[in-house]
Amino acid sequence: SATSSSLEEIGELHVTKGLGRLVTGMMVDGDGSYVTMDDGRHYLDFTCGIGVTGLGHCHPKVSKAAADQCLSIVHSQCSIAFHKPYLELIQRLLPIMPHKSLDSFFFWNSGSEAVEAALKMARIITGKQNIISMQGAYHGRTFGAMAVTKSKTIYSEGVHPLMPGVFTTPFPYWHHANVGPETPTKKLTEDALYQLDLLLSQQTAPENTAAIIVEPVIGEGGYVPAPVEFLQGLRAICDKHDILLIVDEVQSGFGRTSGRGKKDGFFAIQESGVRPDILVIAKGLANGFPLSGVVSRKELTDKLKPGSMGGTYAGNAVSCAAAVAVVDAMQEENVLENVKARSKQLFDFLSGLRATPAYAPFILDVRGRGLMVAMEFASSTASAHDIARKREVPAKLASKIATRCIERGMLLLTTSVYETIRFIPPLNISEEDMNKGCEIFEQALKDVVT
Ligand code: PMP
Repeated sequence: SATSSSLEEIGELHVTKGLGRLVTGMMVDGDGSYVTMDDGRHYLDFTCGIGVTGLGHCHPKVSKAAADQCLSIVHSQCSIAFHKPYLELIQRLLPIMPHKSLDSFFFWNSGSEAVEAALKMARIITGKQNIISMQGAYHGRTFGAMAVTKSKTIYSEGVHPLMPGVFTTPFPYWHHANVGPETPTKKLTEDALYQLDLLLSQQTAPENTAAIIVEPVIGEGGYVPAPVEFLQGLRAICDKHDILLIVDEVQSGFGRTSGRGKKDGFFAIQESGVRPDILVIAKGLANGFPLSGVVSRKELTDKLKPGSMGGTYAGNAVSCAAAVAVVDAMQEENVLENVKARSKQLFDFLSGLRATPAYAPFILDVRGRGLMVAMEFASSTASAHDIARKREVPAKLASKIATRCIERGMLLLTTSVYETIRFIPPLNISEEDMNKGCEIFEQALKDVVT
C-alpha cells in the first residue's frame, strides 16, 4: 500500500545508517515463538530480540500486568517516590538471587546503564580505580560499558579514547590461546588464571584494582561458558586482594542458561556456587519492557551517598510490573523445566549434525548452556589451528547459514568475530517448534555446504 511504501522510504532515508538490520520490513505482530511482518512474512523467532523475550512475544500475563499498570501510575520517578511494582519486584527477586547475600537493588533501563552503574559503584565502594575485563566480553555501548567491551572493534571504532583504567585478561577460550576446541578446559583455565595473576603484578596492582567484570557465559563474544573452575578462581583472586567481582548476567540470566542439575536456578553463575559482589541483570527480566538491575549487598551499597545514583526513567513502573509478572509466570509455568528439556533436545540435534560426515568438516564446536547455544563453523580466514588442519572452507559460513534460515522462515543471529551461529529461542518454546527450528537449520546448513 501507499502508506507502507512511504514508511519503507522513511526507513531507507531517515533512519541512521549506524544501525545494522537482520530483515527488511516492519515487525507488526508477535505471538509466542512467532513474529509477523507487514507483508505477511511469518518467522519462527530464534533471536528473541537478542535474548529478551524469554517468555515469547506478548506473553498474556506480562502484557496484561503492564497494561493494568498503565492505568494506575506510569511514572513516579525513583528519586521522588517508590512505586508498588518496584518493591514487589524486589520481593520476587530476593528468593531467586544466585546468592543469598545479594539483597540491595537498583533498577535502570538498559544493560549498558546497569553495567555503568556497577562500575561506578565499584569505584566508590572500594576507593580504587582500575577495572579488569575479559577478552571477548560484551557489556554495552555507553562509555564505561564500551571500555570494558572486548568482543568486536566496530563497537568503538572512531570513538577512542575510551574510559581509562581498564585492563584486559584472557578468557579461557581455545581461540584466545590459538589452539583447537579439543584443548582441555583445565589447561585453558589454568593458563587464563595465570595470566590474570601476571596482570595484577605487572600492570594493575591489587591496591589500584576496584573490580573484575565477567559474563559467566560470554554472549556477543561467542556464547562461551566460563569453566566453573575459572569462576571459582576469579572469586579466590578477588577475595585475596579485596577486589569486587561484578557478574554480568544481562544475557545469561533469567533462566536462559538453566538446566545444569542441582545448583540450577535463574542464573548461570549458580553452577559454580560463586558469590557475585555485584550482579547485573536485564533482557529477560521484563520480557521486552526496558528494565535492568544492579544487585549487591546492603553492607556495600550503604557506602553510597543518597543522590549518587539515579535516572529519570530508572525502574519504570510499567517495566517493573511486567517484570513481576515475568517472575510469577516463570514459576507458575515451570519454565526452567522446559529450558532443561528443550536444551537437551537442541544439543542432541546439533551434536548429531556435528557427527554427520557431510557436515563434520565444517563444524568446529557446539557449546552453551540452557537455551543460550552456539554452533561454531570452521573459518576461511586462517588461524594457526585451521592451517594445522589444512582446512578449506567457504567464506562466511555462519552468516550464509543464518541468511538461508531467514529465507526458510526462521530468525537466527550470528555472534562474535568467529564463524558462530547463536540459538536463543524462547524459554517456553514447545517441543514441536524446537523441532521445526532444527529442521529449518539443517536444511539451511545443507543448502550452504553441500
Ligand atoms: N551485558 C551483556 C552481557 C549483554 O549481552 C548486553 C546486551 N547484548 C549488555 C550488557 C548491554 O545491554 P543493553 O543492550 O540493554 O544496553
